[in-house]
Amino acid sequence: MDKEYVLECYNKQRNNLLNNPLRYYKNRIKALKKLYKNIRLMNDEIVEALQKDLNKSETEAYMTEIGLVLSEITHMIKHCKRYSKPKRVATPLAQFASKSYVMPCPLGQVLIISPWNYPFMLSIEPLVDAIAAGNAVMLKPSETSENVSRVIDKLIKATFTENEVCTVLGGRSECEFLLDLDFDHIFFTGSTRVGKIVMQKAAEHFTSVTLELGGKSPCIVDKTANLELAAKRIVFGKYLNCGQTCVAPDYLYCHNSIKGKLIKEVERQIVLQYSVDPLGNKDYPKMINKKQFDNGIRLIKENNVIFGGKYDENTLKIEPTVLDSTFDSDEMQEEIFAPILPVVTFEELDEVISYVNSHSKPLALYLFSSSKKNQKRIMSACDFGGGCVNDTIIHLATSNMAFGGLKQSGIGGYHGKVGFDTFSHKKSIVDKKTWLDLPMRYQPYTKTKFRLIKMFLK
Ligand code: NAD
Repeated sequence: MDKEYVLECYNKQRNNLLNNPLRYYKNRIKALKKLYKNIRLMNDEIVEALQKDLNKSETEAYMTEIGLVLSEITHMIKHCKRYSKPKRVATPLAQFASKSYVMPCPLGQVLIISPWNYPFMLSIEPLVDAIAAGNAVMLKPSETSENVSRVIDKLIKATFTENEVCTVLGGRSECEFLLDLDFDHIFFTGSTRVGKIVMQKAAEHFTSVTLELGGKSPCIVDKTANLELAAKRIVFGKYLNCGQTCVAPDYLYCHNSIKGKLIKEVERQIVLQYSVDPLGNKDYPKMINKKQFDNGIRLIKENNVIFGGKYDENTLKIEPTVLDSTFDSDEMQEEIFAPILPVVTFEELDEVISYVNSHSKPLALYLFSSSKKNQKRIMSACDFGGGCVNDTIIHLATSNMAFGGLKQSGIGGYHGKVGFDTFSHKKSIVDKKTWLDLPMRYQPYTKTKFRLIKMFLK
């Protein structure tokens, strides 16, 4: 993309921040309604682009991308007015007579950088939160999902003025160019490696960041779990989008005594959900490109496959695969991001807690267990971004809870109120009345004034 054009858009937004119509909540609601309507109108184009980039079926495209975005817009249309209003808070007696309030204000001009795996949802959901909070946005979708990025560009141009939202198409060099500019906030979704670069660049301008990153998310199954249901839900979460999901269960960490039975159930579910020939299943997504395909198949070896393991270089599909692994195996060293599920085992729950907590903090953690004691123990003792008890990945499909990681899996969160707050600055304001002026804080200090100060401040 032409860098002069990018700079022109940046300057146009920057110089017009005070005239940005989105500073007023009524205009934000109008803009969100228009966005909703245009997404509906462009539904087929979005589905087609997702199909071209990732072979997503219409159902998966709606369930995991378009539908989630529409639901976030609905939430913001409903709550934007309430979120935007100043909130009265109590005032300490020492500041009598005054009233105190917290006023949410837009951060200004924000940069949103998104990845390719859920290319529509991960670009438009943060955009919805940023618009609801009244910001001007520069949006850089991923170059890897080029068809979706083009449709996003068209959608943005049909919905917003360049003063409000502007898309920048391109890859690493465009992103580096943008990161040299001074934004008021950067919202980045992508790998931990690039997240570190984004944070370093942001530091040069004292720009705040939200980082939505990845990592190895464990899926723990203890001996009290309902194995049939566990397998069904694990297979859903792992192989959705051909395993290219940031919150997919990365590896199966099960009790030694149930390993055989659980694997049998997982195999049964793979066949039930994806048929005996997943490579020929038209609704089964593909790896985004040859690089990701090669990264996946290099983990499949002659001696480690329990189930699946076949792939097709022409269609870039890899079968839902289960591997017999150890903690030293290649597939246990880095985030997998492919339909490959290693299985490792434990004897005691303490081992699980110490393994999880001694590695990079995962974005998600899943526990399948019928034991309330075990549920409470794992949920409170392990460090992770968010997760589920007896399910996988659905914790992100809500506007009522934050979605985000911690440390290596991310900083900050979004969705619903938390998303609104992520893109707002809260001004704390004391409105002091002029008809009374308590004297004790002013010099000259006296014993009586000191006594009064001590009375108020304790
Ligand atoms: P990526 O980090 O390679 O790319 C993300 C964005 O950064 C793209 O827009 C890309 O153009 C840009 N970029 C790439 N290299 C850059 C560089 N050197 N300097 C500046 N910008 C650069 O990530 P990806 O491959 O697109 O996505 C996969 C990763 O994203 C996985 O690790 C996954 O776990 C993570 N992810 C996280 C979430 C989440 O919500 N936490 C969601 C989806 C994906």
